Amino acid sequence: MAADQNAKTLVAGFRVLFGQKVALLFQWFDDIGRIAMDSDRPVFFNAQAADARRSGLVSPRPAELAALVQNWSGPRPLRLCGGGTTSRAAVVDHWTLDLQTHFQRVEWQPADQSVWIGAGGRMGDVLEALLPHDRTVAAGLSGLPGLGYVLTGGMGPLSRQVGLAVDQVLEIHGVWGDGSPFALSRVDDAGSLEWRGLCGAAPFLGVVSALRMATQPLLPLWVEQCVVSPHQLPELMLRAEASNASTSLQWHWERADAVQILGIANAPWAGAQKIEGLHQLPPLRGSAPMPSRSHKEVVGLLGPAAAELWRAVMPDLCRLLQHRPHAGCSLACQQLGAATQQVAVKASSFVHRNAEWKPWITAAWTPGDARGQRRSLAWLKEVWQVLQSVCPGVHLAQFHDHLPFHHKELEAAFGPWLPGLRKLKQRLDPAGTLPSL
Ligand SMILES: Cc1cc2nc3c(=O)[nH]c(=O)nc-3n(C[C@H](O)[C@H](O)[C@H](O)COP(=O)(O)OP(=O)(O)OC[C@H]3O[C@@H](n4cnc5c(N)ncnc54)[C@H](O)[C@@H]3O)c2cc1C
Repeated sequence: MAADQNAKTLVAGFRVLFGQKVALLFQWFDDIGRIAMDSDRPVFFNAQAADARRSGLVSPRPAELAALVQNWSGPRPLRLCGGGTTSRAAVVDHWTLDLQTHFQRVEWQPADQSVWIGAGGRMGDVLEALLPHDRTVAAGLSGLPGLGYVLTGGMGPLSRQVGLAVDQVLEIHGVWGDGSPFALSRVDDAGSLEWRGLCGAAPFLGVVSALRMATQPLLPLWVEQCVVSPHQLPELMLRAEASNASTSLQWHWERADAVQILGIANAPWAGAQKIEGLHQLPPLRGSAPMPSRSHKEVVGLLGPAAAELWRAVMPDLCRLLQHRPHAGCSLACQQLGAATQQVAVKASSFVHRNAEWKPWITAAWTPGDARGQRRSLAWLKEVWQVLQSVCPGVHLAQFHDHLPFHHKELEAAFGPWLPGLRKLKQRLDPAGTLPSL
């Protein structure tokens, strides 16, 4: 305690003498738990975030979060790391707020069969923790993502039956960008701008410390994996669009001539394999060997049921997939629709309620290869351009405030809600402590 006090006095002294810049060098002395650069823990799953020469990590305990955000005087925006799976979880010359270390919490609520999830949990942890209770949540295709999955919408194989992950949220706790704490619930706050903002645009407005989510019964699923020619995709998508809410189609296109298909349903069919639940979902890429460690950017798009229109874009997509600049570049897609379309547009910041398909484009390059990075990002933009007519919306699962298309992405993600969201941010995060909108 005395040592802490000395350190605080020392830091205060440096602040007075030299201003903010020097004070930053000493920030790891305080009792918030800051960690200087080079005393790392592997919180960043994303290779690009892991390699970024960030200033350091700050790892507050829950009780310290509000003061930390309120008094943040370092470079803005402060970066956030939940699951750490996105490229912007750490950025050169910026600090990252590490939520993994002290916000691990998965707490079953037997009274209403809901679950509290702390900001440090991964969706895979949540699925595992719910197994003994025979319950599950609307997780995505991987257990790796953290709370960012839920906060940015969150779609997975159960979404057509139960809605997006964000539609399952019952309560959200945290602090706004100005450091003031909040505790909102669907029951009391569902009509408010704040609730709408948190459900789909939280990363711009506040730091969520935990949220409570509804769960579903853990029921077996049937999955089928196969490889098809790209030319078969529109027909398969057409059939998927006509199928009922208990089935979903996802695909992954990496090699020019082959697309991996993953069909999932809650009833058996010939050729399908039974799994016990989402925790046993096979990888979307099938058994394809993992590409080497690379840096990546991912853009997620959203479009309505329009499989017929996909036929027109297939020749261009085939050409682009044939000329991928890096083996890790790919195009994949998952189906939503049905229950995700039953929710009012104004209920959340996920405004593309007519969406049936979410294709995502991955640009990859070898770390340090600046030319390769430019080529892959140019390739991503070309694929996006081709898909724009069939998928005009954006799913902002990752944001790219370092790339020229950031504003285009924001507009395509939030549409007419963007001005309202900006006003809300101005009120809740006036100093821009969190990423800009
Ligand atoms: C292998 C893999 C599979 C995926 N599968 C799916 C899928 O099936 N469906 C789908 O919809 N998405 C999927 N995604 C996308 C993923 O859900 C999003 O990119 C999500 O934002 C990742 O969240 P994170 O917490 O892991 O990442 P982070 O990099 O830690 O955070 C991502 C964003 O969320 C914000 N954030 C994180 N935690 C908080 C918090 N507590 N409070 C406020 N903001 C926060 C961060 O500021 C950041 O902007 C997948 C991603 C990967 C890597």
